[in-house]
Amino acid sequence: MKSLIDTLSSIAREEHASKIISLTVKLGALSHISPDHFREHFIHASRGTVAEGARLTIEVMTDTTHPQSQDVLLENIEIMNS
Ligand SMILES: [Zn+2]
Repeated sequence: MKSLIDTLSSIAREEHASKIISLTVKLGALSHISPDHFREHFIHASRGTVAEGARLTIEVMTDTTHPQSQDVLLENIEIMNS
């Protein structure tokens, strides 16, 4: 989760964004985390960061043969420019 927040923070920095409005992540079929659990962790980890309050959409992948099936993939991100 920290690496996701770090990624969001560095995108925001590069884009001179003040806030992450929304993001979509894909949970790999073998990532061993449920959407609800992921959401809880995200809300907790994003506190005090540019991603706090972002609308989070979670898609669950079912393909266990996908090369990144163990990962959480950042699919889409919408930012607010400062
Ligand atoms: Zn946990």
